[in-house]
Amino acid sequence: IYILGIESSCDDTSASVICDGAILSNVIANQEVHAQYGGVVPELASRAHQQNIVPVVQQALEQAGIDTSQLNAIAFTKGPGLMGSLLVGTSFAKSLAMGLQIPLIDVNHMQAHILAHFIKDESAKIPPFPFVCLTISGGHTQIVRVNDHFKMEVLGETIDDAVGEAFDKSAKLLGLPYPGGPLIDKYAKLGNPKAYAFTKPKVGKLEFSFSGLKTAILYFLQKQLKENPDFIKENLHDICASIQYTIVEILLDKLKNVVKETGIKHIAIAGGVSANSEIRARLEHAEKYFNWTTYIPKFEYTTDNAAMIAITGYLKYLKNEYADENVTATARLKVTE
Ligand code: ATP
Ligand code: FE
Repeated sequence: IYILGIESSCDDTSASVICDGAILSNVIANQEVHAQYGGVVPELASRAHQQNIVPVVQQALEQAGIDTSQLNAIAFTKGPGLMGSLLVGTSFAKSLAMGLQIPLIDVNHMQAHILAHFIKDESAKIPPFPFVCLTISGGHTQIVRVNDHFKMEVLGETIDDAVGEAFDKSAKLLGLPYPGGPLIDKYAKLGNPKAYAFTKPKVGKLEFSFSGLKTAILYFLQKQLKENPDFIKENLHDICASIQYTIVEILLDKLKNVVKETGIKHIAIAGGVSANSEIRARLEHAEKYFNWTTYIPKFEYTTDNAAMIAITGYLKYLKNEYADENVTATARLKVTE
């Protein structure tokens, strides 16, 4: 079974071809235009998707070595995301499915981040049900109990910013370009994580809050810069390492709480922040230290990609769950919908 997956929820245009659950191609066009604005500009994102979508899909088919007549279904991201961005992928997928007279499958982007764990790959461990997934992305921070592919329960989530935002906003305070998460990760490798201490938020056992951390970092930097205008330049590595250490500590504390509360020791991570080298290393350590079984996605399936849309489409295809012809993009969509 060949499925074409299309992802266009935010600022990456991506297309992927999957054959019986194994990835044949996963092409991603990153949009560079947003870096200079310090964040994603929705209007520019939709326009770039419009430009990229045809070449990206063509490249995905080419790399997979198939043509459109061999496709069994088209899967696309229905939401959540930026409306203008979603509309490009949705309209394109609808038209292509109609032209080819094959089923159309709508995919929930947040389920797809989690279901990337079901991509068939020699090196991948597939989690058994039920497992717990910590979804850490640019717009979400959630602890999800996954009872079945499409039976999910949110056990806890952030009450304000997402963890990806915490990384990106901290990076912005340090004068780093958007998205700053990967840069904090890079500089943190060269610094001392215990150089500066930031307090962890006091919220419920399975809840997150990151807006206080951002403010704490802001006040800390303002105070230091008053004494030494070169403070950031001279201590960038230590600052990044300390911020990252604090964030990862918060995430691990919550995972320990959820294991205690549910008794589930199969722990997965998903979403863009799961690309972070510190969280990956700490989870590997937890595997031995706490006797958890951990599931860490391959690097290319962490940030937005169409492979995760294609695998979710494949899992829905097996259940004959197709979209109606009047399906629409939905900017707000819960992981449980
Ligand atoms: P959502 O999936 O919630 O709609 P999104 O699709 O915009 O949001 P993703 O693409 O899953 O988010 O993740 C992007 C986020 O991941 C950004 O905030 C980015 O800074 C962060 N990120 C990517 N790599 C790393 C890394 N190595 N360390 C920390 N953060 C990272
Ligand atoms: Fe995402």
